[in-house]
Amino acid sequence: MRWSVRLVALAVVLAGVGGSQLAADDGAERLVAAMLGETPMISDLRELTDSIGGRPTGSAANQRSVEWALERFREAGVEARTENFEMPALWLETRAAARVSGAATFSPRVAAKPFSRTTESAGVQAPVVDGGRGSESDLERLGDRIQGAFVLLETDELEDIPGLFAEYANDAAVENRLAQHGVAGVIYQGSRPGNQLYRHNAFRGPKNTLLAAVMERDAAARLLRLVRGGAEVELWLALEAQTGPAYEAHNVIAEIKGSAEPEEFVVIGAHLDSWGLGTGALDNGCNVAMVIDLARQMQRLGLTPRRTIRFALWNGEEQGLNGSWGYVRHHAEELDRHVMASSYDIGSGRLAGFFYSGAPGLGEVLDRALAPVGGLGPYVNLDLPIVGTDNYDFMMEGVSNLVGNQESANYGPNYHARSDTFERVDQRQLRLNGAIAAAVTWGFANLDLELPRATRAQLQEVIDGTDLGQQMWMFGTLEDWETGRRGRSQ
Ligand SMILES: [Zn+2]
Repeated sequence: MRWSVRLVALAVVLAGVGGSQLAADDGAERLVAAMLGETPMISDLRELTDSIGGRPTGSAANQRSVEWALERFREAGVEARTENFEMPALWLETRAAARVSGAATFSPRVAAKPFSRTTESAGVQAPVVDGGRGSESDLERLGDRIQGAFVLLETDELEDIPGLFAEYANDAAVENRLAQHGVAGVIYQGSRPGNQLYRHNAFRGPKNTLLAAVMERDAAARLLRLVRGGAEVELWLALEAQTGPAYEAHNVIAEIKGSAEPEEFVVIGAHLDSWGLGTGALDNGCNVAMVIDLARQMQRLGLTPRRTIRFALWNGEEQGLNGSWGYVRHHAEELDRHVMASSYDIGSGRLAGFFYSGAPGLGEVLDRALAPVGGLGPYVNLDLPIVGTDNYDFMMEGVSNLVGNQESANYGPNYHARSDTFERVDQRQLRLNGAIAAAVTWGFANLDLELPRATRAQLQEVIDGTDLGQQMWMFGTLEDWETGRRGRSQ
């Protein structure tokens, strides 16, 4: 047994010095060098963020960004198309206003949580109660006073990505509890420094029934001090939005055809949509510009991969990973031949490795793919299933998938906030990340590998054996897996 394993390993090493392998490595090196040079990547990012700006799915700016992206690929000579998918509901904030009255009078800035219930233009007025952190005991302590009141919740200042996951988990638990209490609404103290407002989906997404908003941090702290000091204060809140039923939106899919295995696919993706308070530079314009540039450089150098590479700019990500979900449904017949799907979605912090999940041997292929950019490491690759970006539906269809494991850098404080604008992007690091993404994409498109799809039973084992089920609950996708509506059916 031991010997046969060694023989297989030896065969792998020998395969690694074969002629096709050398050609593949040469391609990686040329691509990496091109990505590190002067390219239009930064001017693309500037156009997308400054000229088009914030681009929530369903908005006119989002449609402009789709046309803009198509044009960038075509201008580079890369074949590109739009692919339709269905968004479950339209929700775009049009007005958010608040006023405190009673023991003190002031007008804090607020932002609706996406998919919040809306109000009439006259707004809603109700007493404010101190909801603490929103724990079971915090809410019990309020007794009957919670009925018909605005529940104000204290938060920690958000610093990094672990803090962000904690925020998501806490909001999910709190909104689940509050849904049963007949409150006027829930008001979160803004967690971003500098009183930045931001968007944060209501936990149940389009199924949410709560009135839910974020209040700028310092004003919410003042309001909490007043309430805790025994003052009687009321909040008037008006949240209006353009809402509507399901509608069609578009991903942009560009493609460079494989020479030897054109019917096998490697996907590299970033989401084109953003929220609209800022201009979606860290989340996720910088990685959109990187994906476009990678296609452009590959085409410019005349590099043809063995397998077909699809450069995917997803839409509807922020509102429930809808674009990538649409893709796996649209391409269901091809998923057995999808070798790997990667997502880049954590701003411009250093790409320190990847989260990966999928077939046995995936980590080893990843190591080989990273070899040409060893000098930009070291890399820490973690065999962990990740929910929260566009690898999700590939993962739940059993396709091997990667998520760029980037250092938090300035991602957390600016996450979905007004401050997520062009100048927040670390341009130098974005180039280095582009070089790493180039090597990985090229590697998976050219290396000898076998990464079969996981079955539903195997995926269920991962859910049971890791925190995947907990993550799915937190992002509101567990139910759809359990009912068979979303994810691999067998
Ligand atoms: Zn994102």
